[in-house]
Amino acid sequence: MECLVDAHCHFQQQKIEFESHLRKQADGTKYYIMGTNYYDWADVASLARVYPKQVVPGFGIHPWFVNWVIKGEQLAKESTSANIHCPGNSNIKEAKAPSSIFDDKNQAIPVSWENTLIEYLEEFPDAIVGEFGLDRTAVDRETLVLYDWNKQVEIFYKQYKIAALNKRSVSLHCVRAHQQLYDLLASIYPPKQKKPKPSHLNLDRNEQSITAMVNCAAPVANIMLHSYSGSAEMLVRFFKLPDIGRRIYISLSQLVNMRSANRTKLVVAKTPSDRILIESDIESPANAKTALAEICCFLSSALQLPLDSVQYLTTNNALNFILPPSI
Ligand SMILES: [Zn+2]
Repeated sequence: MECLVDAHCHFQQQKIEFESHLRKQADGTKYYIMGTNYYDWADVASLARVYPKQVVPGFGIHPWFVNWVIKGEQLAKESTSANIHCPGNSNIKEAKAPSSIFDDKNQAIPVSWENTLIEYLEEFPDAIVGEFGLDRTAVDRETLVLYDWNKQVEIFYKQYKIAALNKRSVSLHCVRAHQQLYDLLASIYPPKQKKPKPSHLNLDRNEQSITAMVNCAAPVANIMLHSYSGSAEMLVRFFKLPDIGRRIYISLSQLVNMRSANRTKLVVAKTPSDRILIESDIESPANAKTALAEICCFLSSALQLPLDSVQYLTTNNALNFILPPSI
């Protein structure tokens, strides 16, 4: 097997180690590297420029960084100065992150982040929009308060819409919010003649603008439910969504999915084999190979397929995942 694809990883966090790993490796493995917070997008982009054959970049704002978006919006409101740290200054495409993303509690994402995202998509025709998504359990490390739900939904829609308008695939984070994610997608792709209100979303604030965003969203290329942790029954409902259901992939990791192997086996049993991906979802390139090997072995057993067939299948699926929509 010459090629494997790690469909979701974060090696921009260990960029130097990753570059040295790439110089040594000659096995053709590809890495879909997901940006998470605007400040790491420049590192993702530089890896994709230098290693275009090995790296597919992803640019997104993860729900754990929703407070940085809120902070940027507050600064934009407060400031009338052109010299303020972030807002409105678009010339920060190559902004650098602090050494630890949680060191600077006042980090703010500029309100121009959507433009920067679009610029990166224009530069990289195969780029994914991600990682973004919904999370109902994670809390801000400083305040220990759950991330603002309405803002999560709002930036979800903004990123989804950009992906759709640019015909890109998306890599979605979802933790204990699968029903909400389903409702949200069902609001974009309603059953014919019926447009359900997203009942579980609690969209009091910004509801009007969010509805407007939904109404102009076109289908994205494909959806990856990364490290899918929902139930098999829920997944079947996702697959039945009109228009988009047949373009939903699940990506499985040793890190998350092998913690609940029996549940994951049920999920695999309900997933069409051409829509299964593998990922490491880690920051350390040194540990990725083992993580991918373990999830491949797990799938080999779950699918009753030889290991090289699993590698071939998941590689092929990952290459199809980043293709533009066929309609
Ligand atoms: Zn991730």
